[in-house]
Amino acid sequence: MLPIRKLLIANRGEIAVRLIRACAEMGITSVAVFTDADRHALHVKKADEAYSIGPDTMGGYLNMHRLINVARAAGCDAAHPGYGFLSENPDFAAACAARGIRFVGPSAAVIRSMGDKVAARAAMIAAGVPVVPGSDGNLADVEAALPVAEKVGYPVMLKATNGGGGRGIRLCTDPDSLRRNFDRVRSEATRAFGSTDIFLEKAIVNPRHIEVQILADSHGNVTHLFERDCSIQRRHQKLIEIAPSPQLSEEQRAFVCEAAVTAARAVKYENAGTVEFLMDHDGSFYFMEMNTRLQVEHPITEMITGVDIVQEQLRVAAGLPLRYRQEDITRRGYAMEFRINAEDPENDFLPSFGRITRYFAPGGPGIRTDGAIYTGYQIPPHYDSMCAKLICWALDWDLLLARADRALRDIGVYGVKTTIPYHLAILNHPEFRTGVFDTGFIGAHPELTQVHEARPNRNLAVVIAAALAAHHGL
Ligand code: ADP
Ligand code: ADP
Ligand code: MG
Repeated sequence: MLPIRKLLIANRGEIAVRLIRACAEMGITSVAVFTDADRHALHVKKADEAYSIGPDTMGGYLNMHRLINVARAAGCDAAHPGYGFLSENPDFAAACAARGIRFVGPSAAVIRSMGDKVAARAAMIAAGVPVVPGSDGNLADVEAALPVAEKVGYPVMLKATNGGGGRGIRLCTDPDSLRRNFDRVRSEATRAFGSTDIFLEKAIVNPRHIEVQILADSHGNVTHLFERDCSIQRRHQKLIEIAPSPQLSEEQRAFVCEAAVTAARAVKYENAGTVEFLMDHDGSFYFMEMNTRLQVEHPITEMITGVDIVQEQLRVAAGLPLRYRQEDITRRGYAMEFRINAEDPENDFLPSFGRITRYFAPGGPGIRTDGAIYTGYQIPPHYDSMCAKLICWALDWDLLLARADRALRDIGVYGVKTTIPYHLAILNHPEFRTGVFDTGFIGAHPELTQVHEARPNRNLAVVIAAALAAHHGL
């Protein structure tokens, strides 16, 4: 029997619901926490037990002492941090461990070293994994940055050393823009990540974002679950993810997956993690960062491999070996995930919080919806605007495109604006359909945000046809 009997779900939203589902399948009692704003949230309804952590002014899902107190009072023997919030906070991992609560993730030391992008780069260089050329350490001031940029060559990226979520990153095309951006990135880093550390690296031209899912246990087993292509991004934030990448050859796939395993071994990684790379126009790969947690887009990997990543995470955290060796991991078909955000694409993606007046989940072959919404649910304005993920799988790329189109028309989220029509516009763009694109795709196609024409109203056609039929007495 699994040594984990009761799990604290230290998160909210769709990922909390995802974790609760894993618990239900594994016979683990799930313990949710909720802020005042989340009193009616789906994860509260679905969990076996749920405890209030007060208003957000008390830290909400970032209040680790409160979370640990709930875990202890409820008798939890483990805590899963999900993504965002405390998931990459080494102090939380250490605090759990110190109180005999298994933290579902790598050790505090590994989280700390990989959360620092400069330290992570150094570790990868030592392990022989190719990294983006850049500064050896943090940059004291712009005078220190200028010669490094000269050496690696413009354009360069200035980045927050402790950054995440696509923030604290700026492209600099020449010394002037480097001068202009230096203080901006520094203050963004300070505000968002509480650290003034910034570094720079060469900007890869026409980059493809390719990341590899890793699973590693405490018995020395490290396996990869192939790669995901997350090149469809808006302002460095992922919008649509695909597994496997439709733009890699088998040789490139083998290379990048092997590099990710090397990276994980080099830092003695344990649990699930993701090694992110950029691929340039001639197919070379460069390590970018390692995310020491479950990722938003993990379901597409689950769809092509059949491995339940959350269940493996829980087994690894309990000290058990992985159930799969590398040769057991096979992949089948393609999967694609659409992040459904409560935002208005026609209004610069302004968050559109409010009441979901009606919600229909799509169904049929190859469709999975991981969401936190239901009819009547009021999306609180306090948190991220992502409220659901639509995940589609098919045996081949062309069928996947057709199925995704069908599912995006099938799903119904009413009462708030969402990114659904925007996804349809992207999906039906001829360039996207070739499967060959880089991270500049969204920026190069601003017209796709004019979404009202992108979703021909089939329902209306049906209504008219029915009215005509009725009129003609059919
Ligand atoms: P993924 O890398 O799993 O695709 P994202 O980069 O979109 O995920 O981040 C997942 C969530 O976590 C988002 O809500 C994002 O804003 C948040 N997040 C990620 N990294 C950080 C960080 N270092 N600090 C604060 N929030 C973060
Ligand atoms: P975060 O921690 O916020 O996820 P990353 O370092 O993973 O930050 O970068 C996020 C995105 O920014 C990448 O997916 C890519 O689109 C872009 N990016 C980052 N570094 C570079 C680079 N050196 N060249 C080109 N694009 C980059
Ligand atoms: Mg990243």
